Amino acid sequence: MRRPNAIELFQAGMLVLLLASAIQGVMTLSSAMTMKSRASSTLEELRTFELGFKAANAIVEEREPFEAALSQNTVNDPVWLDQLARWRSRTDLALDHFERRAKDTGIASAMNFNFLRAQLKTERARGDALLVMPLTQRSVGLRMSVVRGMISASETIVPMLSIVSRRIEVADPNIGGKIAMVRLLASLNDSAVRLPSEVLPFIAAGTLLPSDAQMQALRIIQRIYALWDVGGAQIVPAPDSDELIKAGEALRAAYFGKALPYISRQIERAASGYSRTLPPAQQIYDIYEPATKLIAGMRDLYLERMTSDAKAFSSQATMRMTVSLLLTALILTLLPILAWNTFRQVLRPLLAFRQEILSISERRITDSPVYTGSVPQVSSLFRALETLKERERERIVLDAERAALSERLRLLSVTDELTGLLNRRGFDAARDSGPPRSLAQTSDVALLALDIDHFKRVNDTYGHKAGDLVLQAISRVLDTEVGLNGIVARYGGEEFVVLLWNGELVETQMLTERLRARIERTAVPIGEGHGPLRVTASFGVAFAAREGVDWTALHEYADEALYAAKAAGRNRVRITNRIVSKWSDSAKAARRKVEPSSIVNRS
Ligand code: GH3
Ligand code: MG
Ligand code: MG
Repeated sequence: MRRPNAIELFQAGMLVLLLASAIQGVMTLSSAMTMKSRASSTLEELRTFELGFKAANAIVEEREPFEAALSQNTVNDPVWLDQLARWRSRTDLALDHFERRAKDTGIASAMNFNFLRAQLKTERARGDALLVMPLTQRSVGLRMSVVRGMISASETIVPMLSIVSRRIEVADPNIGGKIAMVRLLASLNDSAVRLPSEVLPFIAAGTLLPSDAQMQALRIIQRIYALWDVGGAQIVPAPDSDELIKAGEALRAAYFGKALPYISRQIERAASGYSRTLPPAQQIYDIYEPATKLIAGMRDLYLERMTSDAKAFSSQATMRMTVSLLLTALILTLLPILAWNTFRQVLRPLLAFRQEILSISERRITDSPVYTGSVPQVSSLFRALETLKERERERIVLDAERAALSERLRLLSVTDELTGLLNRRGFDAARDSGPPRSLAQTSDVALLALDIDHFKRVNDTYGHKAGDLVLQAISRVLDTEVGLNGIVARYGGEEFVVLLWNGELVETQMLTERLRARIERTAVPIGEGHGPLRVTASFGVAFAAREGVDWTALHEYADEALYAAKAAGRNRVRITNRIVSKWSDSAKAARRKVEPSSIVNRS
């Protein structure tokens, strides 16, 4: 498998990162949202609890003015009655609120509000019946019975509060502990408030405390201590705040240190017949009652703290949700922008850069893509690339010039300066590189050696310059006649060679004769004061098969034939009858034909 390159890795990595942060974001967000919704539902439940709690307190509190009224002459006292009615309507209102709330939150079905109302109604009616009696007719027993009825009404609401507090414990276990504490303190308060109700009417009436009332009082006192054992242990050693510790210590000192022992002593005395030395009931009540306010205060303090904790938790959840939402949005927005920017400004230009370098190495210098990004390092890379290309362009031009120069040198080295024909080296090279494609099928070659006759005389008579003009004229004749059929070269001073790629006898003979005749006919103008010059040339011809030809021998034989032509009187063609290496069929045929009359005489 191919290993992914860095860019593919980058892209894949970015994709994974994006995905991961999206998942992470969704997870954080959802946990923050869960926290938020839990906090909200805790707050909702707490609100319900508060309403229930208020209603419960109202029922307890309603008893106090009622009990006071019981010991007053209230038959026709509108102030008392009015006050009582206000307390009652306060209770009813609180109960209405609680019920509406319970209905709204769907827990009302588990709560018997009608029973509670009926109970309250009954107890109030019994109380009212007692209140219209003259004070002297209200026996302690009757009064106690009505008070206990009220107490039992205040106990009816307790299970309703349990339902709500269980829901809070479920919604938020942290708050669950505190709500237990609130309920414990509420029970403590109920018991503490109930204690004087159980005994003071007897004391007020100046009667001995009956044993059942004494037992009841003792039970309440025990209950108070038991509740304090549990609650106090939680308040003091595991405090939530200085305020709570202080409230706890004040409560312990005032209620458990003073008020409770005090009322306990009075109850003991009332039970054991010391009633005459007892302080008046009102005085006991006035000493005892303020300390119970500390319990209610502590209870309310817990409730308050619980609510503020829940609110703090809720706002913390809101903040957490907002922050995680913002962070996720930030990451999900920034990451692709960063990735795209890096890709566009760095990686893609680098890829293009690499391509450019490859092109340069292949000597393809194109216009660079313009770097539009803002990364200085990459930008300087592209500037360096431009410089490199500039150098490379210059180098290419220089190389071309050098190549042209060396080609010119090469041409010079193979060309005869005077005539423009190939020199001997050029001839050898052209010969070795073989015939043009059109003549590649031929199998035999013919070599013509020719020498201008009595050329020395031309030089001697008309000067070297005239000799040069003659050489140039002869060269032109040879070049135009032979064309692409062979190679023409100046081999020596006034000596030329022609290699014909197609060495067919008849054609060669005809061409050679044509060359001889044209040279003979050529008039060379040599300048002012002289008529045109005419020269002749002698030709020696040799044939060979091209395959594996011995060029030295071929030249030698052509030269021999040339000498023969000279010796025979010049301006003529001689074909050798000597065999060069292996002969092809046509070369053999030529030999047979040539042998009897090997001289073409023209002079
Ligand atoms: P033959 O018919 O026997 O060949 O007699 P020839 O005079 O042509 O032969 P020879 O070898 O005696 O003389 C050749 C002359 O060619 C000698 C030399 O001065 C002349 N020559 C050689 N190269 C050049 C050249 O480049 N320019 C001129 N003008 N003359 C040249
Ligand atoms: Mg010569
Ligand atoms: Mg000559």
